[in-house]
Amino acid sequence: MTALCDLSCLIVDDDNFMLLALSKLLNSIGIKRVVTCDNAQDALKHVANRNNQYDIIITDLNMPQMDGIQLLRHLSSLGMNFSVILVSGEDPRLLESVKSLGEQQNLNILGSLNKPVRRDNLEALLESYQPHCTTAPKGPASMVFATELQAAITNEDIEIHLQPQVSLDDKRIVGVEALARWNHPEKGNISPNIFIGIAEKHGMIRELTDIVLQKSIQEAARLRNLGFNITMSVNFSAQVLCSLELPEILSETLSSSGLEPSHIIVEVTESSLADDRNTMLDILTRMRLKGFGLSIDDFGTGFSSLEQLCQIPFTELKIDRSFVHQANNNKASQAILESSIALAKKLQIKSVAEGVETDEDLALVKQLGCDYMQGYYTARPMPAGDFTLWVKDYIKQLA
Ligand SMILES: [Mg+2]
Repeated sequence: MTALCDLSCLIVDDDNFMLLALSKLLNSIGIKRVVTCDNAQDALKHVANRNNQYDIIITDLNMPQMDGIQLLRHLSSLGMNFSVILVSGEDPRLLESVKSLGEQQNLNILGSLNKPVRRDNLEALLESYQPHCTTAPKGPASMVFATELQAAITNEDIEIHLQPQVSLDDKRIVGVEALARWNHPEKGNISPNIFIGIAEKHGMIRELTDIVLQKSIQEAARLRNLGFNITMSVNFSAQVLCSLELPEILSETLSSSGLEPSHIIVEVTESSLADDRNTMLDILTRMRLKGFGLSIDDFGTGFSSLEQLCQIPFTELKIDRSFVHQANNNKASQAILESSIALAKKLQIKSVAEGVETDEDLALVKQLGCDYMQGYYTARPMPAGDFTLWVKDYIKQLA
């Protein structure tokens, strides 16, 4: 049996008090590696990143936007090994049916707990955790999914949606981020948090990146031709950032588009920097030499050292949503947000706040001197074809 203190846990609950109470409880039981997420989307994104390995995911059922059942469905397609504990204030019978639902999806459900959670009940479930006989899918579910994803990639059914970034100074639109979308014929829109994880696991990430890159460059060229003076940010998975020829491929893809390298910003998540450092430094430095912008994405969620940050010639620091949205109510988030913006200023690079959704979020990032913002406050990601219309509306509102 794994010693309890060696377990790593992720807690998902929309109630911050619950997150705090549960982490304290876990700590008091001896579990040190505890990460919390206040919504299911962030949790998925987090789990899909193969640098983040959890033994146990403790999730609430009743959450806005994506509930616990939806989260379990998405988790089951990831094909990773972890166990689940359900926590809810709901009727114990409902908890039981969710438990069997999860088991049907090949998830290893350790059990369910009622709120308020009692230490002895939690401890008993944790004790029952067994690392190697989990029923998590090796898994037929994830294989079917992978086959479908491969077909979607081959048929170029992966679309890009655009989310604008605007200057906090003068509200001008400075860029867009291209976000991959897979519209599955039966399952509908599948979150990139899911299919990117699957693509990484089944060796398709390179092909997926190629398509997204090509489509993003086409779109950037189209928008430039329409007179938009904006950059296009494209996400690169850590797995892709180990091919040394990547900077050349990027230049080649760009060459016939009429775009300058500076029109493209390569986004690399902070957590991916933990991988093969030398290769990544080589690739990123040569991209920068060629003139591409380099952005450190999801900043604050990884553990990059200052030394690492200074070594890689980033041009932009993108602060993760979790330190931006509702940071006015959270001293810890606000401190991280503030110091991230200050760090960007010291490094003389641009700061971008992700997850600006409310007037309060906007006021705070503005007050702290952030350069750009991205988030629902300005616009949700939209199909590329809708962007021009959106800009017209946006400009009308400014006037
Ligand atoms: Mg990004």
